[in-house]
Amino acid sequence: MNQFDVIIIGSGLSGLQCGYILSKEGYNVCIVEQHSQIGGCLQNFTRDGCIFDTGIHYIGGLDEGQSLNRYFKYFGLMDKLNLKRLDEGAFDIINFANDPTDYKFAQGHDNFAETLAEQFPASRKALHDYTDKLREMCNHFPLYNLEYKNLDVSEMNFFSDNAFDYIKAITPDTKLQNVLAGTNPLYAGLPEKTPLYVHALVNNSFIESAYRVVDGSSMIAETMAASILQHGGTIMTNAKVDRFIMENGAISSVELSNKEVLSAKNFISSIHPARTLAMIEEKYLRKAYRERIMNLENTTSNFTLYVVFNQDSFEYLNHNQYYYKKDDVWLTHEDTDKDWPFNFLLITPATSRSDKYADCATIMAYMDITDVKQWENTTIGRRGADYNEFKKQKTEQVLDLVEQRFPGFRKTIKKVYASSPLTYRDYTGTVGGSLYGILKDCNDPLKTLISPKTKIPNLLLTGQNIILHGVLGVTIGSVTTCSELLGLEYLVKKIKNAG
Ligand SMILES: Cc1cc2nc3c(=O)[nH]c(=O)nc-3n(C[C@H](O)[C@H](O)[C@H](O)COP(=O)(O)OP(=O)(O)OC[C@H]3O[C@@H](n4cnc5c(N)ncnc54)[C@H](O)[C@@H]3O)c2cc1C
Repeated sequence: MNQFDVIIIGSGLSGLQCGYILSKEGYNVCIVEQHSQIGGCLQNFTRDGCIFDTGIHYIGGLDEGQSLNRYFKYFGLMDKLNLKRLDEGAFDIINFANDPTDYKFAQGHDNFAETLAEQFPASRKALHDYTDKLREMCNHFPLYNLEYKNLDVSEMNFFSDNAFDYIKAITPDTKLQNVLAGTNPLYAGLPEKTPLYVHALVNNSFIESAYRVVDGSSMIAETMAASILQHGGTIMTNAKVDRFIMENGAISSVELSNKEVLSAKNFISSIHPARTLAMIEEKYLRKAYRERIMNLENTTSNFTLYVVFNQDSFEYLNHNQYYYKKDDVWLTHEDTDKDWPFNFLLITPATSRSDKYADCATIMAYMDITDVKQWENTTIGRRGADYNEFKKQKTEQVLDLVEQRFPGFRKTIKKVYASSPLTYRDYTGTVGGSLYGILKDCNDPLKTLISPKTKIPNLLLTGQNIILHGVLGVTIGSVTTCSELLGLEYLVKKIKNAG
């Protein structure tokens, strides 16, 4: 039987970050990953020679002195990654049908406000107030600025601020309201629920600076994994954890699906909290706690196209392209089948091959798992002909919308592959194929903010569900989780000293 100091379940960004931090501090860690490839959402896959990212397309805050730059230096990433800065004047472009204007998100707070003020001159002050507000919200999170204060509970009322209401209050211009919320697919926001802090943390980080990882984000996983091994850590692939084995109210070991048993003093689960609790026998957890976690609502999912272009037929876009059928960017779940999709996000990955032409594109459109309910009991590659037909039909519907923005798009396609919410569910293990895990709700913020501590003394949680999803949210989460073992002040000092 193996004896580790810490077993970490999942090798996505959070699992690797916790593995890195703890192994660097001398802990004997073991990361167990269900798939043959490490990385979770950091994984790439290749089709027809093109590299596709699965879950990390761009990263914010990587300029010198900015928050993720300091964290990435600590993780030994900054000098290893080949990064491509997105267009400074337009890292994101928001378009609406029947409106030829490109609404551009520019990098730098003043630049952001002034660029949009060209189209919305009457709202110049509101735009500057908006960027100030984003920064103010981020300052509520000490780890955003690498400070070691715990979150101040007396300031918790900001968790109840609603993003939709805030944006509506700062400008009467409904077009500008929709433009400011136009990167909604980055957090799958619901108008009645999404907190302002979610909108602020995500957007502020990209407004600071926005980059793509050239030739795929899996480089992040590979670099971190190599460091963990160098620190003496272990990474096991094809190692799916099926259940926790308990002894005297604490976890003694995990059982893998091949029945191998691995034991450790502490356990960190980076997978969805509901999936984590489902691996613990009912009698070890209070019913109320289990039910609260099990019944939390999750963010929606995506239908995604992976398009391989004919050679040199589609220009590389050094920005992310958001497109909406109507002047309403918020996810309302009211799409009928005929109207679907109401939006798309198109991204051309950066490659070392060409700056001029794109090899491929990823195109994402919201889709709820209920739309593929009839195949919920099937597994990857074995979902049947009717499922393939469904994907074909949905592919055409997405391409119809893409044609509106890029006339002639179909002619550039060499091949197109599609994935559905079931693909996300089966690859990442998120409930319902949810994109970003638990849906944060400003109406009941404490319910949807998950503590890394659990009712089991030697089990901690980490990953996108505890504080926030995305590279920034997950990084803050990993540091929060590891600080339970190392002490927050100590760990923050170590990270600061690395930069
Ligand atoms: C389509 C999409 C696009 C995105 N784009 C961006 C972006 O551009 N920028 C950005 O900052 N963020 C983006 N995100 C969000 C970001 O990718 C995630 O929030 C983050 O990577 C999640 O990391 P994680 O470690 O929490 O989870 P994951 O990466 O999901 O890792 C969890 C790991 O656990 C493994 N696992 C699950 N169950 C078990 C088990 N029982 N035993 C062993 N292993 C198990 C899984 O296989 C997986 O490898 C995107 C997400 C999606 C889905």
